[in-house]
Amino acid sequence: MTTELPVIPHWIDGARTASTSGRTAPVYNPATGRVVREVALADQAEIDAAIASAQAGFETWSALSIARRQSVIFKFRELLVARKPELAAIVTEEHGKVLSDAMGEIARGQEVVELATGFPHLIKGGFSENVSTGIDVYTLKQPLGVVGVISPFNFPVMVPMWFFPIAIAAGNAVILKPSEKDPSAAIWMAELWKEAGLPDGVFTVLNGDKLAVDGLLHAPEVQSISFVGSTPIAQYIYETAAKNGKRVQALGGAKNHMLVLPDADLDLVADQAINAGYGAAGERCMALSVVLAVEPVADELVAKIEARIADLRVGNGAGGEDGEPDLGPLITGAHRDKVKGYVDIAEADGGRIVVDGRDYRVDGHEDGFFFGPTLIDHLSLDSRAYTEEIFGPVLQVVRVQTFDEGVQLINSGQFGNGTAIFTNDGGAARRFQHEIHVGMVGINVPIPVPVAYHSFGGWKASLFGDAKAYGVQGFDFFTREKAITSRWLDPATHGGINLGFPQND
Ligand code: NAD
Repeated sequence: MTTELPVIPHWIDGARTASTSGRTAPVYNPATGRVVREVALADQAEIDAAIASAQAGFETWSALSIARRQSVIFKFRELLVARKPELAAIVTEEHGKVLSDAMGEIARGQEVVELATGFPHLIKGGFSENVSTGIDVYTLKQPLGVVGVISPFNFPVMVPMWFFPIAIAAGNAVILKPSEKDPSAAIWMAELWKEAGLPDGVFTVLNGDKLAVDGLLHAPEVQSISFVGSTPIAQYIYETAAKNGKRVQALGGAKNHMLVLPDADLDLVADQAINAGYGAAGERCMALSVVLAVEPVADELVAKIEARIADLRVGNGAGGEDGEPDLGPLITGAHRDKVKGYVDIAEADGGRIVVDGRDYRVDGHEDGFFFGPTLIDHLSLDSRAYTEEIFGPVLQVVRVQTFDEGVQLINSGQFGNGTAIFTNDGGAARRFQHEIHVGMVGINVPIPVPVAYHSFGGWKASLFGDAKAYGVQGFDFFTREKAITSRWLDPATHGGINLGFPQND
């Protein structure tokens, strides 16, 4: 007998809304490899209903006072803080990352909610009095209207929170299209907004696949698109949204390098390489992929990283009798096979597989999508395993002879998301930060994700568009400026008819 699995609905008009499309996708618990529920995949009628509700929500919300809007954001933050563990458990169940890491993801999203509570300061316009006799000029920052957010599987809470707290605070209505691989967190956050007093239609969750994404990209009512995901899709989103006249920011993939100079403390470097390379099983866009060692330290560093891998525990992110493991499974069986494929390529291309995680098994979880921490040395720089993003717990060591060679190699890659330098030489670090063509740079910090009041985003194929996520750039993205030139006519100073531009002399 087969039992029917629950279907995750949409969230439209402030309520769970069952899908009538007849299309669903499976949602797995990656630690067990079992389908735990299905998710609805929207059809055009559901896309239209979501947009209509969001349009109405925008009219209501944007008319409310700043003080009223601010109180809702504060309440959302308060509820989030109180109920974080509930949300973390949902993330771990559908994504697989360990619980403490899920809590960390929520904490980083919460930072943006906290930034958004101070939004009145960030949507203030400017005022110039008496620019010409009796004339004042001032600017307003007004919301865009209905805005779309399309997110990847790897941060089902943090990535949507890079955008929606700011968009909502600024007076917009958000339609979130979460990843179909771990969509439950989005519905949970929608319920939290409702409890916080957000009017219906201001936060909508439209579950779906390409059809839902394309629906948002082509709808004239949707004013902007904020996308995070892989580079080919980011480029497609950027081009299609721009063609349809929308404001767009599309963040793509990454291949992050850590440049290690010979003066660095190799024990500290090895610890940081482990944290940044294998945390969240490497499924982070800021994960470390390549340790770029300036000789003669590579052999020693490889030995230190190898020794530390032996102590890493892989298992169910929810924990077990032995407590929490260090890393959980990958998101799907297909993704695990793709990661394995890259290690096969590395081997075929002459790389030395120092630690091999391809056949990793976790007792009691034989069907889970596990992949063990893997270390590759001496890989050819022409190998696709080096040039492409792998997005798994695979760390590569590459050897260079000089600082300049290292900088040149990093700058020659297609991506420009994150990078780091490890050294005690301040002059070298300063040169690195200046010369490197990457959007986020760490100096002895392996995962340099900027705090909420700066902005997040890479260069080159890691970000299509002009605006990074959150920070002041986030508020600029989700508002449009209007400049007003004003005077109150006074017969005493009125200059009569003059058809030319003022000459100010
Ligand atoms: P993905 O590109 O497969 O999916 C992202 C979103 O796009 C999902 O909502 C998905 O439903 C949708 N989508 C997928 N295929 C589509 C198509 N053909 N047309 C329209 N929409 C489509 O990415 P993913 O596998 O969910 O996430 C992992 C990727 O995201 C990695 O490449 C990672 O580097 C990247 N990422 C980047 C950042 C960043 O800040 N630069 C942050 C997190 C993740």
